[in-house]
Amino acid sequence: MHPWYAHYDPGVPKEAPTPRLLTEALRENARRYPKKVALEFLGRSLSYAALFREVEAFAKGLQEAGLRPGERVAIMLPNSPQFVVAFFGTLLAGGVAVNTNPMYTPRELRHQLRDSGAKALVILDQLLPRYQEVKGEAPVEILVRTGIQDYLPFPKNLLYPLMLKRKGQWPQSLEGIPWRRFLKPGTPSPVPLSLDDLALLQYTGGTTGVAKGAMLTHRNLSSNALQVRSWIPDFREGEEVVLGAIPFFHVYGMTVAMNLALLGAAKLVLLPRPEIGPIVEAIEKHQVTLFPGVPTLYVAFNNFPGIEKRNLRSVRACISGSAPLPLEVAERFEALTGAKLVEGYGLTEASPVTHCNPLHGPRKLGSVGLPFPGVEAKVVDEDGKEVPLGEVGELIVKGPNVMKGYWNRPEETQKALKDGWLYTGDMARMDEDGYFYIVDRKKDMIIAGGYNIYPREVEEVLYTHAAVQEAAVVGVPDPYRGETVAAFLVLKPEYRGKVTEKDIKAFCRQHLAAYKVPRIIVFRDSLPKSSVGKILKRELTKEVGPRR
Ligand code: AMP
Repeated sequence: MHPWYAHYDPGVPKEAPTPRLLTEALRENARRYPKKVALEFLGRSLSYAALFREVEAFAKGLQEAGLRPGERVAIMLPNSPQFVVAFFGTLLAGGVAVNTNPMYTPRELRHQLRDSGAKALVILDQLLPRYQEVKGEAPVEILVRTGIQDYLPFPKNLLYPLMLKRKGQWPQSLEGIPWRRFLKPGTPSPVPLSLDDLALLQYTGGTTGVAKGAMLTHRNLSSNALQVRSWIPDFREGEEVVLGAIPFFHVYGMTVAMNLALLGAAKLVLLPRPEIGPIVEAIEKHQVTLFPGVPTLYVAFNNFPGIEKRNLRSVRACISGSAPLPLEVAERFEALTGAKLVEGYGLTEASPVTHCNPLHGPRKLGSVGLPFPGVEAKVVDEDGKEVPLGEVGELIVKGPNVMKGYWNRPEETQKALKDGWLYTGDMARMDEDGYFYIVDRKKDMIIAGGYNIYPREVEEVLYTHAAVQEAAVVGVPDPYRGETVAAFLVLKPEYRGKVTEKDIKAFCRQHLAAYKVPRIIVFRDSLPKSSVGKILKRELTKEVGPRR
C-alpha cells in the first residue's frame, strides 16, 4: 500500500486487483453475457458469444497452420474486429502477440519481424506491399491477410484467408495468389497457460532508442486493465460503452480501451482511425460512457465545430495518458460532457499505466497523480537511493503490471529492471500527499501527437542521405502536437545550396513513418558542440523555441 495513505486519504482503491488469464476472462464473459454486444464496427455488432467463437476458430486455424505455444504472431491492423480476434486468438493458441504499427515503413517492419522472430503475420490487405518488400528477410511462415470489410456481414464471414509459406518458396508477387479460406468454427486444442506466460511483445525505444520488445504477460496486461477499472467510480460490469478510438497497437489503447472493455463485458465501439468527426458521432449514437484518449484528441474534441450543440452527456469518466494534459483542456471537456477527465502517467514497460489522478477524489494541478493500487513508486538518485521528499530524481516503479524484461536483450533488461524495480527514465518529484509530478525526461525522446519519436532513429536515417554531413534531431514545442520534430543539418560542401528542405523531407518519408518525419529543417554551417564533441542539443532547441 502507498505509504502516504497513513496521513492522507484521497479515497482511491488501495488493494491490487486479482489478475486473470485474458483468454479465460473473455471466455467467462461469453458464458455470462452471451447476447450482450461485445463489438460495434461500421454499423454492425458482434455478441460476446459470437466473438469468442471467432477467437476459437482463429486459434484453431493458427494451430492447424503450425503455430506452436510460445511462437510470435505479429498483428499489423487498425482497430477492427479482426484485431480483437487476432489478438485473443493468438493467446488462446498459446502464441505471443506482437503489436505492429500499421504506419511502419518496410525498414521498421523488417526490424520488428526479425527481432521478434514472428512466425505469423496478420496484416491488412492494403499494407501487403510493405510486407512484400521485406518478405525475403523475415521469418514469417504463416501469412493471414484480411480486408477491413471482410467481416461484413457479421457474423457469417468467419473466414480468414491464409497462406502457408513452403520452405523458402515465396512467390515473386503476393498478388493473385489463391488464398486458402481455412477457418472453420471449432475449438482449438487446449494449451495450458499460466499468468506469467507472455501475452504480448510491445516494441518501444525504452531508454536507449533501439526498438526492443517489452515482454508483457497475462498477469501484467490483465492487472493493468483491472487497475484502470478499479479507478473508475461505479464501473458497471456488462453495462459500460467504451470508445475504442486510440490505436490498440500501442499498449495504452490496448489496456485502457480494448482490455478494459472486454474484461468488463462492456460494449466496445471500434473506430479504425482516431478522427474527431466519427468520435463525436459515435459518442452520440452509442451513448458512450468511457472515452479513453490522449491530450491531442481531447484538444481536437473541444475545438470541433458545433460541439456545444451535441449531446455528449453519456460520457462519465476518462483517463488521459501518454503526455501532459493541460488543465484548461480537461476543464472544457468536462463542461461539454459532464464527465470527469483526469491525467495519468505510464510507459510501455508497465503495461502501461502506473499513476493517475483520482477520479474519486482530489486531483492536483500539474501532477500525474497517485500510484495505482498494487504499484509502489519511489524517486531515487543516481545510486538508486530514495531522495528526500519534494526533491527531483528518477521515478522507479514496481507492481503486477511491470514487464518481465526485454525480449532477447538481457543487458537492456538489467539496466531497466533492478530488484523488480522498473527504472522509468523520467525525472519526477513527489509531494507530501504522495502525488507525483513528472519534471523532465531523462531519455532523449520526443512525443508528438501522442507518438514517441526517438531522435537517434531519425538521425540515423538522415545520416544515410548522401548530402548529410551532420545531423541533430530535437523536439520543439508545438501548440497542437505537443512537440514536433526539428532536424538541424550540416550538408557536405558540394551539396550546399543544391539539396532543399523538400528533398530531405521526401527522403525521410521513404524511410520513416509519417509522424517521425521532421516538420522543421534547419541548414547550418556547423552544429554547437561541447569540448568532447557532443552536439549541444539544448542550444539548438533554444533556436527554435524553449522546450517544455
Ligand atoms: P510509452 O512507452 O510509449 O508509453 O511512453 C512512455 C513515456 O511517455 C514516459 O516514459 C513519459 O516520458 C511519457 N509520458 C507518459 N505519460 C505522461 C504524462 N502524463 N506526462 C508527461 N509525460 C508522460
